[in-house]
Amino acid sequence: MSADTVPVTGWGRTAPTTARLIRPRTYEEAVAAVRDCGARGGIPRGLGRAYGDAAQNAGGAVLDMTGLDRIHAIDADGGTVRCDAGVSLHRLMEVLLPLGWFVPVTPGTRYVTVGGAIGADIHGKNHHVSGSFARHVLSLELLTADGGIRTVAHGTPLFDATAGGMGLTGVILTATVRLQPVETSLMTVDTERAGDLDDLMARLTAGDHRYRYSVAWIDLLARGAATGRAVVTRGDHAPLDALPAGTRARREPLAFRTSRLPPAPSFVPGGLLNRTTVGIFNELWYRKAPRARTGQLQRISTFFHPLDGVPHWNRVYGRGGFVQYQFVVGHGQEDALRRIVRRISARRCPSFLAVLKRFGDADAGWLSFPAPGWTLALDIPADLPGLGTFLDELDEEVASAGGRVYLAKDSRLRPELLAAMYPRLADFRALRAELDPRGVFVSDLARRLHL
Ligand SMILES: Cc1cc2nc3c(=O)[nH]c(=O)nc-3n(C[C@H](O)[C@H](O)[C@H](O)COP(=O)(O)OP(=O)(O)OC[C@H]3O[C@@H](n4cnc5c(N)ncnc54)[C@H](O)[C@@H]3O)c2cc1C
Repeated sequence: MSADTVPVTGWGRTAPTTARLIRPRTYEEAVAAVRDCGARGGIPRGLGRAYGDAAQNAGGAVLDMTGLDRIHAIDADGGTVRCDAGVSLHRLMEVLLPLGWFVPVTPGTRYVTVGGAIGADIHGKNHHVSGSFARHVLSLELLTADGGIRTVAHGTPLFDATAGGMGLTGVILTATVRLQPVETSLMTVDTERAGDLDDLMARLTAGDHRYRYSVAWIDLLARGAATGRAVVTRGDHAPLDALPAGTRARREPLAFRTSRLPPAPSFVPGGLLNRTTVGIFNELWYRKAPRARTGQLQRISTFFHPLDGVPHWNRVYGRGGFVQYQFVVGHGQEDALRRIVRRISARRCPSFLAVLKRFGDADAGWLSFPAPGWTLALDIPADLPGLGTFLDELDEEVASAGGRVYLAKDSRLRPELLAAMYPRLADFRALRAELDPRGVFVSDLARRLHL
């Protein structure tokens, strides 16, 4: 089992810390790694796509679980898969799509592991229909702080603490996941523009129920009457009869094809992403989108994971990295959302990756992020002057509207607001104290927020 002391960061590349990176290749090695973590404890890590400090552990151990990546069993009739937690969603798509199955939930990148998907209880564009990832996990095997391996069934307290528990209840070794049947590997997509935030919210409210997947790209640099203008894309898996006869797509309807572009350069001059360049980008992006188009066929990778086509795109933010800020506020809190969008627009944050979505019903995970309402995610260069104070103010606004920020994206929230944002926090802490009295599992995120 390899172990190197290296700097570790999240995808936003802020706040790197040094840890012993251990890569178990067998369950026995994983058990040994947990038993030998040392005084600073350990934290499991998947593909490191959490933006902040959830999968790092200063001075301690980080267990890279991607070395355990076997698919154990596929029930191609019933639609379930049992696999190691280190398997990526990309790999599952490669294997499952030709069999007519898709993952139940995918985030904006398919380079996440099943362990990371459960640890953050991730959501996708189908949250309003399908809930978050853990809803589809039937059971999992969890390596706990005592070195034992427990089978954890859906619906038990340990399951609900682990779903969204950010790796702090133990190391997920395997999971059994229910899948989504599909006839083809293409998507049928409708696109429309919304002229401002109210128009956008009205369109999403009126139309989301007609689509399995829905999301809006929102221009947070637009001001005045155009504040909150957006491009809405919604769709579903294309049925076989939607593919034109005589085409390659029709002959091989379940082929999983992806595109890959050249990697982002490793050095990017500072300041490249500023208000002017991002403003121009946003203007072009909005104008190039059709006012209204229906039934376009798109690849899965184009519809769900456009950024995966550019390896290491996170480097375009330069050395300072970037902060992802994602929050949710409930239905009935539209005024809070309007206020926050206006504040972000007025602050002129150069954000070109900003999305708004309506969440459906929440799931049972105690620290699971999604709640019924509106979620906005945006990225901001970390070196923007005054950013810390500005985001602290937004946190206050979100908390007083009864909302919360997403821990998988976070690297800077102050602990005082956490209990208001996550009402089951006390239960989570109590379960952890009993399950892991010596505090074997710990991360930078957990220390910062006293999880
Ligand atoms: C481009 C991009 C788009 C994204 N879009 C979305 C989105 O639409 N929706 C969404 O919800 N998220 C989104 N994310 C965030 C991402 O889905 C989550 O952070 C996910 O947890 C990353 O998985 P990972 O395998 O990289 O885990 P890591 O980032 O390595 O770890 C994330 C957390 O999971 C825990 N963990 C990892 N493996 C295990 C394990 N085996 N056992 C127990 N705990 C474990 C870690 O301890 C950590 O707390 C996006 C990220 C990127 C980069």
